[in-house]
Amino acid sequence: MFDNFTKLGYNSCMNSFTQILRQHNLKVTPQRLAIVEVIHNYGHINIDKLYEEIKIKFETISLATIYKNISAMTKNTILYEVKLPNEKSVYETVKDNHSHFLCKKCAEVTDIDINMEKNIKSITQKYDFSIEQTDLVLSGICDKCKDK
Ligand SMILES: [Zn+2]
Ligand SMILES: [Zn+2]
Repeated sequence: MFDNFTKLGYNSCMNSFTQILRQHNLKVTPQRLAIVEVIHNYGHINIDKLYEEIKIKFETISLATIYKNISAMTKNTILYEVKLPNEKSVYETVKDNHSHFLCKKCAEVTDIDINMEKNIKSITQKYDFSIEQTDLVLSGICDKCKDK
């Protein structure tokens, strides 16, 4: 659904988010749009940083309001919560199925593409589990931190 967004400009992007919110019967509010916009621009962002960013535009907004908005949009699969080991969750706009790399030094989260199909097949055969979610978080040191 969001595949083309990187190629789209700001306005068409915001129009699409407006449409997506409407499709899910969610009220389109300036705060809600700002939240999606910030998350989309960052790629992945945690609640503290998001709160800081939103407060620049909406000085009186509370953390509780941001949480409420995020949870409504997460339930409607507009946003996705990436749970990280030993770090606060980050949020992203829903994209194609992918996994994540977490840098233990700078805490930067990067999308990584792992072909899970082959692995799932062997896991299913070996353990007889039925696998529903395939998002992984791998952690280590990113390329930028390696050079330091
Ligand atoms: Zn790093
Ligand atoms: Zn991601």
